Amino acid sequence: MRMILRNANRQNLGHATVEDGNTPVKICTDRGHEVFLQWEAALDDGGQLRRCPLCGGDSLYRHRRFPQVTGFIIVLALALGLAGILGVTSGIPFLTAMLVVLGLDIAILLLSPESLQCYNCKSSFLDTPIASYHHRWDSKTASRHRRAPPRSSSQD
Ligand SMILES: [Zn+2]
Repeated sequence: MRMILRNANRQNLGHATVEDGNTPVKICTDRGHEVFLQWEAALDDGGQLRRCPLCGGDSLYRHRRFPQVTGFIIVLALALGLAGILGVTSGIPFLTAMLVVLGLDIAILLLSPESLQCYNCKSSFLDTPIASYHHRWDSKTASRHRRAPPRSSSQD
């Protein structure tokens, strides 16, 4: 399982990987942060994540992560759309290019893997099986976990 870990203020602590079946209490992220994980309540009977092992939050949601090539596809689609509007290109080659971009977009949408994300701390858990009781992001659940922005340390 790959993890993108965040602290209580949702600041990115870095990436870490845990081998399947391992439940280390302490791990070190690629940014050099030591992070303590609580696995006892985090895993269900099937060994799938039920809670966030970092903050203990009981609300996780499914999240589809798009690969970085998606940004390139969006720029390509916008460029082709602009070329069509300006009349630079038209006809069969233009239509073919738009269909290729549309096909790539659909393939990326269908093939991109799902991950779990914690409503509370926004940590992400990738390359791990997701239990069927986890649903997609929900605004009501998210509003329960919404936080005030972190306070400045210069207040006194
Ligand atoms: Zn969490």
